[in-house]
Order: sequence, then C-alpha cells, then structure tokens
Amino acid sequence: MNDFSGRSVMVLGGSRGIGAAIVRHFTAAGAKVCFSYSGSPDAAAAVAAETGATAVKADSANRDELIAAVAATGALDIMVINAGVGIMGDPLTIDPDVVDRLIDINVRAVYFAGVEAGRQMHDNGRIIIIGSISGDRAPWPGGTAYGMSKSAVQGIGRGLARDFGARGITVNVVQPGPVDTDMNPANGPMAKMMHSGMAIKRHATADEVASLVLYLASPAAAMITGTTQTIDGGVGI
Ligand code: NDP
Repeated sequence: MNDFSGRSVMVLGGSRGIGAAIVRHFTAAGAKVCFSYSGSPDAAAAVAAETGATAVKADSANRDELIAAVAATGALDIMVINAGVGIMGDPLTIDPDVVDRLIDINVRAVYFAGVEAGRQMHDNGRIIIIGSISGDRAPWPGGTAYGMSKSAVQGIGRGLARDFGARGITVNVVQPGPVDTDMNPANGPMAKMMHSGMAIKRHATADEVASLVLYLASPAAAMITGTTQTIDGGVGI
C-alpha cells in the first residue's frame, strides 16, 4: 500500500503543518513530489532539502498563478489540495476582506486546482482535498466563514468525483478535527475546550492525517470516491 515509486504527486501548501507531513510521507514512499508554498519560503526550502521534493512558489489566492503551477507539473498521479487558512472570529465584526481572502484560498483555489489537476491527470489518479469537521458541524463559536469554506469543498469533491469517475479518478475530502500545527497548536488557548468534546482527548498529529491521505491515494482505495473521511478523535459523536 505504501509504495508510490514512480508516482507524480503535487501537494498544495506543503511548507508547513499537515501539508509538510504529506510531502514527507509521499517522498518516503518513493513518489516524485512537487509542493507549493506562498508565505513561508524558508520553511519550504527546509522541507525541499530534507525530502528531495520540489518547492514551487504559488499563491493559492492568485488564480492564474495557481493554475499555471498545477499545469506546469505535467501528468499527475495524485493531487493533494491542502493549502488553507483558519480564520475564526465574530461574524458581526470580522473584516470582510479577510473573509474574501479565506474564500479565495479555501474554496476558489480548491475548485480551480481540482479542475486543472483533472486536466493534467493520468487515468486512475487521485484528488484528495483537506477539508475539516467544520464542514459538517459548528463545534466552536466564530467558525461561520471557515465552516462555510469547508462545507463548500465537500460539494467540489462530490462534483469532481462524478465528473472524473469515468476515468477511474477518485476524489475525496479528508476532514480532520484538531491537528497540532501552527494553525491550531496542541498547547493553544482553544485546546482544552476542543478536547472536552472529543472521545480521544488530544490533537491528532499531522502524520496521522498524512497516513489517511496515503491510504486514499493507494490502489487499495480505488472504489472510495465522492466521500468525506473524518479523522477527529470523535468530536461530538
Ligand atoms: P498551517 O497553517 O500549519 O499550514 C498551512 C499550509 O498552507 C502552509 O504550508 C501554507 O504555506 C499553506 N498556505 C496557506 N495559504 C496559502 C496560499 N495562499 N498559497 C499557498 N499556500 C498557502 O495549517 P494546517 O497544516 O493546520 O492546515 C492544513 C489544512 O488542514 C488546511 O486546509 C486547514 O484548513 C486544514 N485543517 C487543519 C486543522 C487543524 O486543526 N490544524 C483541522 C482541520 C482542517 P505558506 O506558509 O508557505 O503560505
């Protein structure tokens, strides 16, 4: 299951957190990996040096730059759309420009990158979108805009699964609960409150999420498509 030798993989947002773990897992499994970054060139260079993956600067908020970066990878076997921002705040006071940027990165970029990946992809390829449990429910206050974006990617995943299914391409959305990254540190101010609603009261590791992504990318998962796969330690069960 974990041999990806000769496979061409692109990870959007691979410089830090969950995306960097996904880059590490795929390169360790023999894949040829290209990943994008935007605001963290030093972190991206470090991941590239460590793993042998290729880092490409491409801002997911810039549609043309994003599509060009995906097109430049050529024929892909696996696309992981991970880049995202996690802005929380009172919807009555949150800056509308911040919400627009969140929509650009968390929704528009997922659509355009998914479509371009499908254009470039071999038959029997894989598209995996990193959503969130916030796509299914609103477990914490201040998550209206973020939750909207993660519900939207469920629709993108189902639609592309239908549209690309005849080519054997699967499209799935992985929905983590709390994961220990810069976005949501395990020792952050929200952590205790988040753990209180979980069956397994801890943040997941980025490696645990990456393991699920590699499973979905493997030949064993060929009949899993159009789904959401939750990995959240039992939030709100
Ligand atoms: P981090 O903030 O730790 O990392 C985010 C990654 O996305 C970085 O590599 C960053 O690259 C990249 N990124 C952000 N904006 C852009 C952009 N405009 N263009 C290109 N790349 C960009 O977050 P996580 O690893 O925690 O999150 C990854 C995904 O997982 C997101 O989609 C998030 O919503 C989702 N998620 C996270 C959870 C958590 O608890 N951590 C829970 C549920 C879902 P750079 O810094 O170079 O711009």
